[in-house]
Amino acid sequence: MPIKKNVYQSTRKGPHLVVIGAIHGNEKCGTQAIEKIITEIESGQITIDKGSVTFIPIANPQAYDKHVRFVERNLNRCLYPKDKPVSYEDHLDTDLCAELDNADILLDIHSYHTNGGAFGFIGTTSQAEIDYAIALGLKHYVYGWSEAFSNDTPSNIFDSMGTTEYTRHIGNLPALSDGTITHKGKGGIAITLECGQHDNPDNAAIAYDTIIKALIHLGMIKSDEDHNRTEPPIFIQMQTVFIKEKPGRFVQDWGHCDTVQKGQTIAIYDDGEEVRAPEDGLLVLPYARSDHSKREEWFYFGKQTDSPPPKTQQSRNKK
Ligand SMILES: [Zn+2]
Repeated sequence: MPIKKNVYQSTRKGPHLVVIGAIHGNEKCGTQAIEKIITEIESGQITIDKGSVTFIPIANPQAYDKHVRFVERNLNRCLYPKDKPVSYEDHLDTDLCAELDNADILLDIHSYHTNGGAFGFIGTTSQAEIDYAIALGLKHYVYGWSEAFSNDTPSNIFDSMGTTEYTRHIGNLPALSDGTITHKGKGGIAITLECGQHDNPDNAAIAYDTIIKALIHLGMIKSDEDHNRTEPPIFIQMQTVFIKEKPGRFVQDWGHCDTVQKGQTIAIYDDGEEVRAPEDGLLVLPYARSDHSKREEWFYFGKQTDSPPPKTQQSRNKK
């Protein structure tokens, strides 16, 4: 079942941008922004001057229709083509990955469950990736996701692989059941845009503005307006992901980017075990309703850094 997409190509050579909405079916701001831009391109208000752009307004159609995050599997984890698809989302992988195989740049648009504003989940695989992220004009950028989430085993690298990780990945993918090794020869740069809490009224406007800034940064559209940043961004380096392992609760109504001190109690399990901050830092996306029976992510712990992440060509897969 092919995923619906809209492709716009200039006659001038240039980068290939892929913009995705509704990887999670209940996060519809990306879809709304993409549909607005498609209308503007088709009516001639916006012209793609260089390269090409692929819009995927609804990456997970059944989840979108049901207004749920996913139907059977989080489409933003374990994302790679599978020769024996089992879940509904497994059947979407091949099509979605084929689009990402051709992406030079990815913008994947989401919203989230906790009170808070827009931020980007960024990678640090190259200066081009960092420059792209900063050009999108967001205030907060969270990085180090892969390092915090996965450990050194190859299987975990693929377990934690979402759209951005798949786009950046270069090298072998999990072997097919007959032993065939698939090799991904090209990597792109990628960002996950989190527009804000699911119900924030300005999510779609933020998504639209960010897509426009991506197109300007890549030289794909022209703009007379000044889109330069007025203040420097804040970077948050992810340290640890905390999985909810058994019944428990937060000790207060945490919000995204709330600060905590070393040793401060963040949550208490019903058996009395306390979950404390490992050092001074910030909570990233605390989720009070995380389901322990599904071993869902409860919160992430991060540290603020003043400067952009260091330039490094080292791939997380070499860890
Ligand atoms: Zn999402």
